[in-house]
Amino acid sequence: MQPFVAPLEKHQRFRFTCSPHVTCFNACCRNLNQALTPYDVLCLKQFLKMSSGDFLNRYTEESTGPGTGLPVVSLRFSDADDLACPFVSDAGCRVYAARPASCRTYPLARGVSRDRETGRLTEHWAVIREPHCLGFNNGHRQTVDGWVDDQQIAAHNRMNDSLLELISLKNRFRPGPLMPPEKKRIYTALYDLDTFRNDPSYGDRNVATTADAQPFGRSGTGELDLLRVAMDWVRNYLLTVSAEKA
Ligand code: SF4
Ligand code: SF4
Repeated sequence: MQPFVAPLEKHQRFRFTCSPHVTCFNACCRNLNQALTPYDVLCLKQFLKMSSGDFLNRYTEESTGPGTGLPVVSLRFSDADDLACPFVSDAGCRVYAARPASCRTYPLARGVSRDRETGRLTEHWAVIREPHCLGFNNGHRQTVDGWVDDQQIAAHNRMNDSLLELISLKNRFRPGPLMPPEKKRIYTALYDLDTFRNDPSYGDRNVATTADAQPFGRSGTGELDLLRVAMDWVRNYLLTVSAEKA
């Protein structure tokens, strides 16, 4: 059966509760195709106390966005038969505090549109009802805002909106496929922050270089700054190559 997707206004309430006591526990962590944003990768590698390169090698696969030509990073299944997330266990999510934005947001989905004149972003929300998900039965009634607060999604959304801006910039100024070396450069900047930090060919990164030893959630903000610098590098790169081609 196909999922039922219905638009949801922010003030509207939906009924949903998930807990280890539902009989479908962990069903949503299988049979999935889980793309990670750069901020997802940062949170996960900090939580797991791994370098970005080790995290990417061990847990992810890289592909190319069919519409954008940009690198896409997805979680590699731990079990090819049921397409299980590498972090799911009988007790639940092993990386719950650092789970990706899409896991936090589910069973909602968020889209964003931009006003061409003002540049203002507008959020669009929908609720996804999948037949296997029993969280809608007798669940807690809440608004979208309540869910965003409860699941601590706001910081993810802010960073992911910056990624959407980069995708929009890419489609506008550098449409079509990227050359493999430039795709690799962008992949490194967005996802492999430790390599980005240490690679002098990216120029002056102008951020503290000691944040990688700091724990997730508080002083890891040094790496958040590094990710912002990396995204700026990608933005400038896309604008520079488009100007050179003009
Ligand atoms: S990261 Fe956690 S919540 Fe997300 S799919 Fe994997 S196990 Fe499930
Ligand atoms: S209620 Fe839905 S979100 Fe919760 S474990 Fe079941 S399928 Fe996953």
